Amino acid sequence: MKLGTRLIHAGVEPDPSTGAIMTPIFQTSTYVQNAPGDHKGYEYARTQNPTRHALQNALAAIENGKHGLCFSSGMAATDAVMKLLSPGDEVIASSDLYGGSYRIFTKVYARYGVKFHFVNMHDAQQIAPFINAQTKMIWIETPTNPLLNIIDIAACAAIAQEHKVLLAVDNTFASPYLQNPLDLGADIVVHSATKYLGGHSDVVHGAVIVKDDALAEQLAFVQNSCGAVPGPQDCFLILRGLKTLHVRMQRHCENGEAVARFLREHPKVGKVLWCGFEDHPNHAIAKKQMRGFGGMISFTLKDDSQPAALKVLSGTKLFSLAESLGGVESLIGHPATMTHASIPREERIKNGLTDSLMRLSVGIEDAADLVEDLKQAIG
Ligand SMILES: *Cc1c(COP(=O)(O)O)cnc(C)c1O
Repeated sequence: MKLGTRLIHAGVEPDPSTGAIMTPIFQTSTYVQNAPGDHKGYEYARTQNPTRHALQNALAAIENGKHGLCFSSGMAATDAVMKLLSPGDEVIASSDLYGGSYRIFTKVYARYGVKFHFVNMHDAQQIAPFINAQTKMIWIETPTNPLLNIIDIAACAAIAQEHKVLLAVDNTFASPYLQNPLDLGADIVVHSATKYLGGHSDVVHGAVIVKDDALAEQLAFVQNSCGAVPGPQDCFLILRGLKTLHVRMQRHCENGEAVARFLREHPKVGKVLWCGFEDHPNHAIAKKQMRGFGGMISFTLKDDSQPAALKVLSGTKLFSLAESLGGVESLIGHPATMTHASIPREERIKNGLTDSLMRLSVGIEDAADLVEDLKQAIG
């Protein structure tokens, strides 16, 4: 079955007791048993919930995985993956990461004795020198946030397999519509479902998808033991969001391209970062591993000062100034003071995340209106 069909049908069945076509929100904490141990597969809602179960199966199907696990946020999903590790283990992570991932690695897991190496993975061969006997995982994000760099997933997977370490890919920015890391050899896919999967800026949610049974068992153990599970209403909202992912993503891509090309022609605009440009440093890899280039764009102004950027940030009318991304409405953000404020300034600048950089999550409004809005804000 093709993705568009799977997004609508995978994992969900009409409710057997009523025929309700939409998976009900099973708002319950426990389930009645006929006799001790004689039950319908559900005992306690931290462990199992039918709404969550439907969503987990849907997520596994759309990422071409075998097992899906849902969490109360993207960070809770990342946290669960990190709990596969033990003190002394080492992780090689891409240097250009979501701020919250950098924070949990350096401020939480480093305290528990996990060592992180942050590596510019523009060329995947940069990873190899950091691998040693303690290395257990490679963690990447592609396209990266907010610099829209592209990392070659298949090349990372080859290195991970050669050294028998796990490759985890945060696929939040691409969504399964644009790329499926498990097909390229990754072991673990992580999503902040808050973003494109939910798609309507109305829920915080996370997911992990794997193929391997043993890995799924370990993650399910963490999910149940640590308990960062989503409520059934949140699972319902993600299930509803998934049904239009392909239609929304198609428009995000079209609008993203229109906005990127407009910005690039604008005399006051400096750099425009979008992986669809033929001269993007890793455009060839993007073309190879993605089915489109998405709606995330970052840019600077020729006047590379913070005040100039702040004027644009407060001047847009359709692009709302807000953190997050992936919703139907367009957002504009300032990574240095918003999403990436938790990364030390020197570290940020070193990676190219300058004070004037602005990030757009291009929504699915009419492209002409979005371009008009940016035109008036840039002036
Ligand atoms: C938002 C985001 C996260 C964190 O997800 P939450 O749902 O906010 O906890 C992780 N990775 C990326 C790439 C994100 O954009």
